[in-house]
Amino acid sequence: MPELPEVEALAEFLRERAVGRVIAAVDVVAFQALKTVDPPVTALGGLTVTGVARHGKFLDLDCDGTHLVTHLARGGWLRWRDDLTGAKPVRPGKGPLAVRVRLAPDGDGRAPGFELTEAGTQKRLAVYVVRDPGDVPGIASLGPDPLAAGFTPEALGAILGGSRTQIKGLLRDQKVIAGIGNAYSDEVLHVARMSPFKIAGTLTEAQVAELHEAIVTTLRDAVERARGLAAKDLKAEKKSGLRVHGRAGEKCEVCGDTIREVSFADSSLQYCPTCQTGGKPLADRRLSKLLK
Ligand SMILES: [Zn+2]
Repeated sequence: MPELPEVEALAEFLRERAVGRVIAAVDVVAFQALKTVDPPVTALGGLTVTGVARHGKFLDLDCDGTHLVTHLARGGWLRWRDDLTGAKPVRPGKGPLAVRVRLAPDGDGRAPGFELTEAGTQKRLAVYVVRDPGDVPGIASLGPDPLAAGFTPEALGAILGGSRTQIKGLLRDQKVIAGIGNAYSDEVLHVARMSPFKIAGTLTEAQVAELHEAIVTTLRDAVERARGLAAKDLKAEKKSGLRVHGRAGEKCEVCGDTIREVSFADSSLQYCPTCQTGGKPLADRRLSKLLK
């Protein structure tokens, strides 16, 4: 799933290529992806792309005041196309294509654009056409952005204070902090040398400061690595930059211990016991249930 760094890079990528161009048409192939009816998606035709922004994990294409907002969810991605002139019309229900945005032809007759695709059978990719990004419920309820100036250690302390939630779940909660998902929460906790099951409200002031530092540096580094990469290269870059997430069974690059995993119904987390839990493996709840 694309998280803050990848969506930030996609926004930058689109900003360079799409801003100043006129939208020829937006073709919705996967109808269930379109979550709004007013303004209609056809209203985007003829409008100029004036800006591209990121809100949490949402990508926001500003078309002269009308916004095409996308949440890529777990299996979604963006594919840039240099020329869609000869592209065949697509029929709903075939393949991963969900939405195609066609831009007006430029001087040499090529009509570039981009496609939103979604792999897998769980279709969660969401597209909204709105007059204000705040009209998207998931954006209206977002917590502070960890790369914004106001995200200080004190602000994080205020968020965590009194919370009885495990820190891993709290970091992933978009209403608490915007943009961090399953992968970067694993990475942040590894950098902060903190157990994913630690109760948020029990962190000392020093631990809050360490966690804040880990959040900001981890995300900044990832944004820096992703910057300037083509959309198609971002997934591989994300994977290669992760130290624990998705690396169960591999050696921790900090201490050499074996990275372990805890599985849940529809996700899993990875961590290093030596770095994060005093050398003790965490109970794998799913596994222990099976063994009973
Ligand atoms: Zn380690």
